[in-house]
Amino acid sequence: MSYVFPPPATVSVPVVGRAERFPVHRIYCVGRNYVEHAQEMGFTGREPPFFFLKPADGLVVVDAGQTGTARYPSLTSNYHHEIELVAAIGTGGRNIKAADALSHVFGYAVGLDMTRRDLQNEMKKQGRPWCIGKAFDHSAPIGPITPAAEAGDVANAEIWLQVNGTDRQRSNVSKLIWNIAETIEHLSAAWELQPGDLIYTGTPEGVAAVVPGDTLAGGVTGLTPLTVKIVAA
Ligand code: MN
Repeated sequence: MSYVFPPPATVSVPVVGRAERFPVHRIYCVGRNYVEHAQEMGFTGREPPFFFLKPADGLVVVDAGQTGTARYPSLTSNYHHEIELVAAIGTGGRNIKAADALSHVFGYAVGLDMTRRDLQNEMKKQGRPWCIGKAFDHSAPIGPITPAAEAGDVANAEIWLQVNGTDRQRSNVSKLIWNIAETIEHLSAAWELQPGDLIYTGTPEGVAAVVPGDTLAGGVTGLTPLTVKIVAA
Protein backbone atom coordinates (compact mmCIF):
# COMPACT_ATOMS: atom_id res chain seq x y z
CA MET A 1 0.00 0.00 0.00
CA SER A 2 1.28 3.45 -0.83
CA TYR A 3 -0.24 6.84 -0.05
CA VAL A 4 -0.02 10.27 -1.66
CA PHE A 5 1.35 11.51 1.69
CA PRO A 6 2.27 9.68 4.90
CA PRO A 7 -0.90 8.69 6.82
CA PRO A 8 -1.24 10.14 10.33
CA ALA A 9 -0.05 8.02 13.24
CA THR A 10 -2.67 6.18 15.31
CA VAL A 11 -3.66 8.27 18.32
CA SER A 12 -3.26 6.21 21.51
CA VAL A 13 -3.46 6.54 25.28
CA PRO A 14 -1.19 4.78 27.83
CA VAL A 15 -2.72 2.04 29.98
CA VAL A 16 -1.84 1.87 33.68
CA GLY A 17 0.25 -1.23 34.42
CA ARG A 18 0.50 -2.35 30.79
CA ALA A 19 3.11 -1.84 28.07
CA GLU A 20 0.36 -1.89 25.39
CA ARG A 21 -1.41 1.37 24.59
CA PHE A 22 -5.13 1.96 23.90
CA PRO A 23 -5.64 2.95 20.23
CA VAL A 24 -8.33 5.60 19.88
CA HIS A 25 -11.19 5.32 17.38
CA ARG A 26 -13.73 8.09 18.14
CA ILE A 27 -14.44 10.52 20.97
CA TYR A 28 -18.08 10.79 22.01
CA CYS A 29 -19.16 13.37 24.59
CA VAL A 30 -22.37 13.62 26.63
CA GLY A 31 -23.90 17.07 27.07
CA ARG A 32 -25.31 18.42 30.36
CA ASN A 33 -25.14 15.15 32.33
CA TYR A 34 -24.99 16.54 35.89
CA VAL A 35 -28.07 18.40 37.20
CA GLU A 36 -26.23 21.35 38.72
CA HIS A 37 -24.15 21.87 35.56
CA ALA A 38 -27.31 21.72 33.41
CA GLN A 39 -28.81 24.35 35.71
CA GLU A 40 -25.77 26.63 35.50
CA MET A 41 -26.13 26.41 31.70
CA GLY A 42 -29.81 27.43 31.97
CA PHE A 43 -31.55 24.03 31.71
CA THR A 44 -33.48 21.80 34.14
CA GLY A 45 -31.33 18.67 33.82
CA ARG A 46 -34.32 16.48 32.99
CA GLU A 47 -33.80 15.98 29.25
CA PRO A 48 -32.77 12.75 27.48
CA PRO A 49 -29.01 12.36 26.94
CA PHE A 50 -27.53 14.00 23.85
CA PHE A 51 -24.14 13.64 22.25
CA PHE A 52 -21.46 15.40 20.24
CA LEU A 53 -18.09 14.26 18.96
CA LYS A 54 -14.53 15.49 19.06
CA PRO A 55 -11.82 14.41 16.60
CA ALA A 56 -9.44 11.74 17.96
CA ASP A 57 -6.49 13.94 17.00
CA GLY A 58 -7.87 16.64 19.31
CA LEU A 59 -6.58 14.61 22.27
CA VAL A 60 -3.74 15.91 24.42
CA VAL A 61 -2.38 12.66 25.89
CA VAL A 62 -0.67 13.20 29.24
CA ASP A 63 1.44 10.48 30.89
CA ALA A 64 1.26 9.79 34.64
CA GLY A 65 3.18 12.38 36.64
CA GLN A 66 3.63 14.67 33.64
CA THR A 67 2.14 18.10 32.88
CA GLY A 68 0.63 18.24 29.42
CA THR A 69 0.38 21.43 27.40
CA ALA A 70 -2.77 22.59 25.63
CA ARG A 71 -2.61 25.55 23.29
CA TYR A 72 -5.09 28.38 24.01
CA PRO A 73 -7.34 28.15 20.94
CA SER A 74 -8.07 30.83 18.36
CA LEU A 75 -11.31 32.86 18.05
CA THR A 76 -12.32 32.72 21.73
CA SER A 77 -12.18 34.95 24.77
CA ASN A 78 -14.12 32.55 27.04
CA TYR A 79 -12.21 29.26 27.08
CA HIS A 80 -13.78 26.86 29.65
CA HIS A 81 -12.65 23.75 31.50
CA GLU A 82 -14.98 20.76 31.98
CA ILE A 83 -13.51 17.94 34.07
CA GLU A 84 -14.99 14.56 33.10
CA LEU A 85 -14.80 10.84 33.75
CA VAL A 86 -13.91 9.10 30.47
CA ALA A 87 -15.05 5.55 29.72
CA ALA A 88 -12.87 3.67 27.20
CA ILE A 89 -14.69 1.06 25.12
CA GLY A 90 -12.91 -2.29 24.67
CA THR A 91 -15.72 -4.28 23.02
CA GLY A 92 -17.99 -2.62 20.49
CA GLY A 93 -21.63 -3.20 19.67
CA ARG A 94 -25.00 -1.83 18.64
CA ASN A 95 -28.10 -1.57 20.86
CA ILE A 96 -26.16 -2.52 23.98
CA LYS A 97 -28.47 -2.79 27.00
CA ALA A 98 -27.51 -1.00 30.19
CA ALA A 99 -27.41 -4.32 32.04
CA ASP A 100 -24.60 -5.52 29.72
CA ALA A 101 -22.96 -2.17 29.09
CA LEU A 102 -20.17 -2.21 31.65
CA SER A 103 -18.77 -5.44 30.13
CA HIS A 104 -17.98 -3.32 27.03
CA VAL A 105 -15.80 -0.91 29.03
CA PHE A 106 -12.04 -1.55 28.90
CA GLY A 107 -11.21 1.09 31.49
CA TYR A 108 -11.53 4.65 32.73
CA ALA A 109 -9.52 7.86 32.57
CA VAL A 110 -9.67 11.49 33.63
CA GLY A 111 -10.36 13.92 30.78
CA LEU A 112 -11.03 17.58 30.10
CA ASP A 113 -13.72 18.62 27.60
CA MET A 114 -12.21 22.03 26.78
CA THR A 115 -14.78 24.38 25.31
CA ARG A 116 -14.80 27.71 23.45
CA ARG A 117 -17.90 28.72 25.44
CA ASP A 118 -18.51 31.99 23.61
CA LEU A 119 -18.56 30.21 20.24
CA GLN A 120 -20.67 27.33 21.58
CA ASN A 121 -23.21 29.79 22.99
CA GLU A 122 -23.35 31.69 19.70
CA MET A 123 -23.93 28.44 17.77
CA LYS A 124 -26.67 27.42 20.24
CA LYS A 125 -28.37 30.78 19.78
CA GLN A 126 -28.27 30.40 16.00
CA GLY A 127 -29.30 26.71 16.06
CA ARG A 128 -26.03 25.75 14.39
CA PRO A 129 -23.68 22.80 15.12
CA TRP A 130 -21.44 23.03 18.18
CA CYS A 131 -18.31 21.85 16.34
CA ILE A 132 -16.44 25.14 16.50
CA GLY A 133 -17.08 25.37 20.25
CA LYS A 134 -16.16 21.79 21.11
CA ALA A 135 -14.24 19.93 18.42
CA PHE A 136 -11.00 21.85 17.88
CA ASP A 137 -7.28 21.04 18.22
CA HIS A 138 -6.12 20.28 21.79
CA SER A 139 -9.75 20.25 22.99
CA ALA A 140 -9.54 16.87 24.72
CA PRO A 141 -6.75 16.39 27.28
CA ILE A 142 -6.72 12.88 28.78
CA GLY A 143 -4.66 10.95 31.32
CA PRO A 144 -3.74 7.24 31.33
CA ILE A 145 -6.52 4.64 31.18
CA THR A 146 -6.91 2.38 34.24
CA PRO A 147 -8.37 -1.06 33.39
CA ALA A 148 -11.91 -1.34 34.78
CA ALA A 149 -11.05 -4.16 37.20
CA GLU A 150 -8.42 -1.95 38.86
CA ALA A 151 -10.34 1.34 38.77
CA GLY A 152 -12.31 0.84 41.97
CA ASP A 153 -15.89 2.08 42.35
CA VAL A 154 -15.83 4.78 39.65
CA ALA A 155 -19.63 5.09 39.75
CA ASN A 156 -19.32 6.57 43.26
CA ALA A 157 -15.96 8.32 42.91
CA GLU A 158 -15.23 11.93 43.72
CA ILE A 159 -14.42 14.11 40.67
CA TRP A 160 -12.62 17.43 40.93
CA LEU A 161 -10.67 20.11 39.14
CA GLN A 162 -8.32 22.72 40.56
CA VAL A 163 -6.97 25.70 38.61
CA ASN A 164 -3.66 27.04 39.97
CA GLY A 165 -4.30 25.07 43.16
CA THR A 166 -7.80 26.43 43.83
CA ASP A 167 -10.94 24.29 43.64
CA ARG A 168 -13.15 25.04 40.61
CA GLN A 169 -15.17 21.83 40.29
CA ARG A 170 -15.84 19.17 42.95
CA SER A 171 -18.65 16.61 42.80
CA ASN A 172 -19.24 12.87 42.62
CA VAL A 173 -19.77 10.57 39.64
CA SER A 174 -22.87 9.23 41.45
CA LYS A 175 -24.54 12.53 40.50
CA LEU A 176 -24.52 11.72 36.77
CA ILE A 177 -28.05 12.10 35.37
CA TRP A 178 -27.42 9.22 32.92
CA ASN A 179 -24.93 6.81 34.46
CA ILE A 180 -22.19 5.11 32.47
CA ALA A 181 -24.28 2.04 31.58
CA GLU A 182 -27.34 4.11 30.58
CA THR A 183 -25.11 6.42 28.51
CA ILE A 184 -23.70 3.41 26.61
CA GLU A 185 -27.24 2.11 26.00
CA HIS A 186 -28.34 5.44 24.49
CA LEU A 187 -25.10 5.99 22.56
CA SER A 188 -25.06 2.50 21.02
CA ALA A 189 -28.65 2.95 19.82
CA ALA A 190 -27.42 5.83 17.65
CA TRP A 191 -23.92 4.66 16.65
CA GLU A 192 -22.23 1.25 16.49
CA LEU A 193 -19.61 1.48 19.21
CA GLN A 194 -16.13 0.24 18.31
CA PRO A 195 -13.14 -0.84 20.38
CA GLY A 196 -11.11 2.33 20.90
CA ASP A 197 -14.08 4.67 21.36
CA LEU A 198 -13.79 7.12 24.26
CA ILE A 199 -16.87 8.51 26.01
CA TYR A 200 -16.51 11.81 27.91
CA THR A 201 -19.42 11.35 30.30
CA GLY A 202 -20.18 14.98 31.20
CA THR A 203 -19.03 17.60 33.67
CA PRO A 204 -20.33 18.71 37.08
CA GLU A 205 -21.03 22.33 38.01
CA GLY A 206 -18.31 24.96 38.32
CA VAL A 207 -17.19 25.37 34.71
CA ALA A 208 -15.30 28.62 34.19
CA ALA A 209 -12.69 30.32 32.04
CA VAL A 210 -8.93 29.72 31.93
CA VAL A 211 -6.17 31.81 30.36
CA PRO A 212 -2.62 31.09 29.14
CA GLY A 213 -0.35 30.27 32.07
CA ASP A 214 -3.07 28.51 34.09
CA THR A 215 -2.40 24.98 35.34
CA LEU A 216 -5.39 22.62 35.51
CA ALA A 217 -5.16 19.61 37.83
CA GLY A 218 -8.08 17.21 37.85
CA GLY A 219 -8.90 13.79 39.13
CA VAL A 220 -11.36 11.03 39.82
CA THR A 221 -10.75 8.88 42.90
CA GLY A 222 -9.05 5.62 41.86
CA LEU A 223 -7.71 6.94 38.53
CA THR A 224 -4.44 8.58 37.49
CA PRO A 225 -4.81 12.38 37.89
CA LEU A 226 -4.47 14.75 34.93
CA THR A 227 -2.42 17.96 34.88
CA VAL A 228 -2.43 20.36 31.93
CA LYS A 229 -0.91 23.80 31.46
CA ILE A 230 -2.57 26.24 29.06
CA VAL A 231 -0.02 27.90 26.79
CA ALA A 232 -0.36 30.90 24.50
CA ALA A 233 -0.93 30.14 20.83
MN1 MN B 1 -18.59 18.24 28.55
